[in-house]
Amino acid sequence: MTEIRKDPFSGSVVIYSPDRENRPDFTGIKRSIELSPENCPFCEGNEDMTPPEISRISDSGSSWKIRVIPNKFPVLNVEEKYNRTDEGVLEKFTGAGAHEIIIETPSHFEDITLRDPDYFKNIFITYRDRIRDLKKDFRLQYIQIFKNHKASAGATISHHHSQLIALPFVPEEVERKLTLLKAFYKKNNISLFSEIISVELAHKKRIVSENNGFIAVAPWYSRTPFQVSIYQKEGYSRFEDVEDGDLKNLSEIFSNVMKKLISALGDIPFNFVLYNLPFTEKDDAGFNWYIEILPAIGGTGGFEAATGTYINTVLPEKAAEILKKF
Ligand SMILES: [Zn+2]
Repeated sequence: MTEIRKDPFSGSVVIYSPDRENRPDFTGIKRSIELSPENCPFCEGNEDMTPPEISRISDSGSSWKIRVIPNKFPVLNVEEKYNRTDEGVLEKFTGAGAHEIIIETPSHFEDITLRDPDYFKNIFITYRDRIRDLKKDFRLQYIQIFKNHKASAGATISHHHSQLIALPFVPEEVERKLTLLKAFYKKNNISLFSEIISVELAHKKRIVSENNGFIAVAPWYSRTPFQVSIYQKEGYSRFEDVEDGDLKNLSEIFSNVMKKLISALGDIPFNFVLYNLPFTEKDDAGFNWYIEILPAIGGTGGFEAATGTYINTVLPEKAAEILKKF
């Protein structure tokens, strides 16, 4: 049974997921498994190796473009009932959640630089539709969609996939961000996102790519070398509200950014995160959904763990200058 414990010093929480002990390696040491297409559960033809499918985008015949499946070793699951207990200042709770895998391609050795934007559009449609579906469960408060690409970015299986974890609480880091954004909106009557987008468009030196609906920038506050953030110019608060036309523009800029990163740096490990407004918030919070692509090439250690402060060796202006050439 999963339990969620609160760190009494910081207010942040740790999710304990003992079911994951049943994974082949119960020590908790994360090791990547290099699989061949014959024994990879995410490959076409091996569908019976995964738990029953939640949804798919079909291709012609019986084949598929994208499959969504429950994680075989979920961090949280929908059966869990809410229950809070404490041992004095040591507080813990349980609650319903979901943990899903989005298999982004039937092919084990996918070269995403060769893919056109439609490939990415299907992935974004899947994210949006899964959020819409899970939103019907009123116990869920926040959904984090993310991707770990390659072992040093946290992936255990190399086949291209992303993950969705739905939480019965709003993470402390998200709350903190929302408090700042709401305060900015209240004071200035404009969202911080709109303000940042106009500053970046005026200065141009951190813009990596731009199209009708979106800008991709190496943000001022880049935590990792070559971090790229993607903002919607006229942004929605919630990713589940974006329309197909928005997703077309998003896919174009995303595909362009991935090609630039891979051309400049090679097939590097990276994390992709999609920040969305918690279900518990009203739309007018001054928040817009956005994406961050964080190359896992800088290396983090004790200093970052202790302080939450990152040391980055590449200025975002330099990163943008390099990426713009590709
Ligand atoms: Zn595979």
